[in-house]
Amino acid sequence: MKTILKTEVTVRSICDGFVYNELEGKGLFGLAGKLTIQPEYQRNYIYASIDGGKKEVAVIDSILKGYPIGLIYFNKINSDKLEVLDGQQRITSLGRFLADKFAIKDENGMEQYFSGMAKDKQNKILEAKLLIYECEGTESEIKEWFKTINIAGVPLNNQELLNAVYSGPFVTLGKEEFSNSQNANIQKWSAYVSGTANRQDFLERALDWVSKGNIGDYMSKHRYDKDINELKTYFNGVIDWVSSVFTDIESEMRGLEWGRLYEEYHKKSYDSTKISAEVQKLYADPYVKSRKGVFEYILGGSIDTKLLEVRVFDEAIKKSIYAKQTKEAESKSISNCPHCAMGHDANKSKIWKLDEMDADHVMAWSKGGETKAENCQMLCKTHNRAKGNR
Ligand SMILES: [Zn+2]
Repeated sequence: MKTILKTEVTVRSICDGFVYNELEGKGLFGLAGKLTIQPEYQRNYIYASIDGGKKEVAVIDSILKGYPIGLIYFNKINSDKLEVLDGQQRITSLGRFLADKFAIKDENGMEQYFSGMAKDKQNKILEAKLLIYECEGTESEIKEWFKTINIAGVPLNNQELLNAVYSGPFVTLGKEEFSNSQNANIQKWSAYVSGTANRQDFLERALDWVSKGNIGDYMSKHRYDKDINELKTYFNGVIDWVSSVFTDIESEMRGLEWGRLYEEYHKKSYDSTKISAEVQKLYADPYVKSRKGVFEYILGGSIDTKLLEVRVFDEAIKKSIYAKQTKEAESKSISNCPHCAMGHDANKSKIWKLDEMDADHVMAWSKGGETKAENCQMLCKTHNRAKGNR
């Protein structure tokens, strides 16, 4: 068994001579006839057990975003003949898209076929490189090997794939800094970033932050750089900012989108003593369900209570308050929504049904109002929505 990793095969060359069989619903050939996309044995054994069935559109979207679409395996029959072992679905998606068999949605939600795309976008797809393992061996060797890597093997994750695709001085330096579990900074980073060094999670986060989510593009652009200064400086900038704004380390900080929060809030000034007190107050508040949301809530000026998922009134409280309000309203011939009752339109004597009303904090939670029956009133959905700041 021999395997060679190929990193320079483009979508254009894979789809050269692509033939799609409408009748059988499958792609047949590629690489100018050299590649058989669906060999006979795949159907009954390999194909069924492996390809997860990624949707066609997702394949194209990934390519356009510069994301890897995963490893593809070819079986080398001879110097002139290859068969797809794994990746049939992805290759067929690419071929079908280039043949205008389906459309994707563009930024404005408009359907877009390949032939109608701007030239630069077309080229981005055509020139995208795939990561291909060419294996050479007998059919039974290959089947056996394939079974082993897919059952016992840990598949490469996204960042590991990207490291392979964009291998070069930049990745080497990046891994020395971010993927070295001996790096003394790992412990500090782990307070804010989840994952492990050896599975590339810190490198991935650093790239994600500096590239604003366009990791593939960034790696491609910097592939031959001899330093990683920008990457390091940005990452450390984010970490230093978080640790100076929030002086206590809480476990819920781990894995938050600090890169995005840094971009949004690092120009605002914060008093870390006050911030610390506010974090402690919210952590002690039994009504706060999402502690993960505490940090963004505070950064944003303690306004967006949705981030905290404040506890809501339970059904028993809602029902009893509804019954009480409705009984009183009926005796006075006014609406059971106190806000409607104060109005002058047709709703002022309307009796709403329970499912037409929502529970509201009389005194807002953010102003100290508790989630108890004494602080609950039922409002019609319109008035409840209008009240805001809950
Ligand atoms: Zn109302």
